[in-house]
Amino acid sequence: MESAGATLLYQQSVRLRKLRYIPYIGDGDSKAYTAICEAQPYGLAVFIPKEECIAHVTKRMGTGLRKLLADYKGKMLSGGKGLGGTRRLTHNRMDTIQNVYGRAIRDNKGNAKEMAKATHAILKHYSSTLEEPKHNDCPSGPTSWCSFQRDRANGTNCHKPIKNPLPDAVVEVLQPLFNRLGDETFLVGCENCYTQNRNECLHHVIWGMAAKEMFSSPREISLAISTRASAPPTQIFSLLLALRYNQKCLKLGKILI
Ligand SMILES: [Zn+2]
Repeated sequence: MESAGATLLYQQSVRLRKLRYIPYIGDGDSKAYTAICEAQPYGLAVFIPKEECIAHVTKRMGTGLRKLLADYKGKMLSGGKGLGGTRRLTHNRMDTIQNVYGRAIRDNKGNAKEMAKATHAILKHYSSTLEEPKHNDCPSGPTSWCSFQRDRANGTNCHKPIKNPLPDAVVEVLQPLFNRLGDETFLVGCENCYTQNRNECLHHVIWGMAAKEMFSSPREISLAISTRASAPPTQIFSLLLALRYNQKCLKLGKILI
């Protein structure tokens, strides 16, 4: 359904908006992009390049880590311990890794090679021990997220060894995920650091007025979209209440719109 909708938007863009939607900014689901390319909405001669939404790519790191944790639940790694738990892959550590991965992309806008290097540095950083520090690939400079590199740039001595560094057995499980999301070829699609944030914000408000979880008539959806585009916030709130009341009535079999 999403593919059909996206294709229709592309097919109408020149006629209705007098513009071409180039590049295509994807959210990781390649079906819509494939469908658009097959439809050739701008003719054979116009190639539609694909870029990745970096917010979705960043989320993919968190999702990948959580999936690994679920997949390895109850399984023992070499050393006789599991993937998760104290001093292993914790929820806090996963959140931190996801955030730092997002920074690795944003801080290296326009340079996929550096993005890849910064991504692989994350795993090395969090597996560093006092005996074996691995901070050489961490981003340098006084604003680096790595305190070792900040010390080096500022001439300070604030760095403390990583608390609960990831053991080798955990690193071994995480490495394929980092290889995939830290692959330079993949990160080329993130070089421009595009996001779908504006669309997501708009959708959030529209679905707030015409909830996806319950039936909304085409008129309700159309009203929600046009109201969001033109009405001041106070009117939006009143209309939001009215629409929700209507949706309740619809459930009871009364049609007010
Ligand atoms: Zn480091």
